[in-house]
Amino acid sequence: MVPLLPDDAGWNFSAGPAMLPRPVLAQIGEELPDYAGSGQSVLELPFSGAHYRDIAARAEQALRALLSIPTDYAVLFLQGGASAQFALLPLNLLGEHEVADYVETGYWSAKCIAEARRYCRLNVAASSADMGFDRVPEPGAWKVSPGAAYLHITSNETANGVEYPWTPVRMLTPLVADMSSSFLTRPVDLGDYGAIYASAQKNIGAAGLTVVIVHRALFERERPLTPAVFSYRRQAEADSRLNTPPTFAVYVAGLVFGWIAAQGGLEAMEEASRDKSERVYRTIDGSEGFYRCAVLPSFRSRVNVCFRLHEEALTPVFLAQAREAGLFSLQGHGKVGGLRASLYNAMPMAGAEALAGFMCDFAQRHG
Ligand code: PMP
Repeated sequence: MVPLLPDDAGWNFSAGPAMLPRPVLAQIGEELPDYAGSGQSVLELPFSGAHYRDIAARAEQALRALLSIPTDYAVLFLQGGASAQFALLPLNLLGEHEVADYVETGYWSAKCIAEARRYCRLNVAASSADMGFDRVPEPGAWKVSPGAAYLHITSNETANGVEYPWTPVRMLTPLVADMSSSFLTRPVDLGDYGAIYASAQKNIGAAGLTVVIVHRALFERERPLTPAVFSYRRQAEADSRLNTPPTFAVYVAGLVFGWIAAQGGLEAMEEASRDKSERVYRTIDGSEGFYRCAVLPSFRSRVNVCFRLHEEALTPVFLAQAREAGLFSLQGHGKVGGLRASLYNAMPMAGAEALAGFMCDFAQRHG
């Protein structure tokens, strides 16, 4: 039996690759040399063989059960990260439409827009750039295009700590969402979306896997130059085995989906995400300005708490002392700066408590 890491091993607040549930890590360690008595490591299993096909089918079933995914949506296990999807969305979903709508709410939606623009006529329906990405723009003011192929949002801005508190439903065009950092942290009604996608290294497991869930009615929109391995239709027809899939990452994803179900599913993840993030935001708001969060309260991310110290020069001191206290990877995104605590599903309340306790101590010592 591979032992679980003790809590005093420290807490990893990285935005991704991020913490994995400790029971999942222990199971990987146990099964790694010999998968299910096959005499082979899961890393060595052929992707067309019965063992891997079973691993992938069970991972898909577990994900379908968690999200109650209707049968008219395909679940794809792809490579290339969420960044590849920035280009692949127009290639797969534009069809005969001339324009696609995008909402800009932070660093990642801006990256997505810059890439997608190379493949389609793109309308920025709304942006909070002028407000320093402190909110989601009011939907009543979004300038959506008549006949747009789809409307793209970034459900949670990992670098800026901004999250949609609601789903902008019934906008006439299919809604498409980059859910990379908030995937599986609360229930989602797939019926509100044409497609959602997420890279794995935050809430799903190991880097290298990108999950795309797409309504099958959209397959006919594929553009002729779409690379075969990135064709939603062709990968769906091939059960995501048109070429070698990220087999190990799919195996880990299946374990994580099972772990989430055992914790009580997405309702339990939602409650835990709310409690953990509220613990840290309360510490920020109660610090009399020692810590500051620029995001308006109703748009604050439950999974990426972004904040700053009143005195920027203290940031490296905070990071060094946090590391000594076993609190790792709290630096903000490279392009945003400041501090960021990522509180994905695998982070237990004890980690958020440890961080909040450290923040209070630090403020007392340096305030
Ligand atoms: N979108 C969001 C919201 C992200 O947080 C990230 C990664 N941090 C990406 C896209 C890019 O993901 P990848 O590195 O897997 O391409």
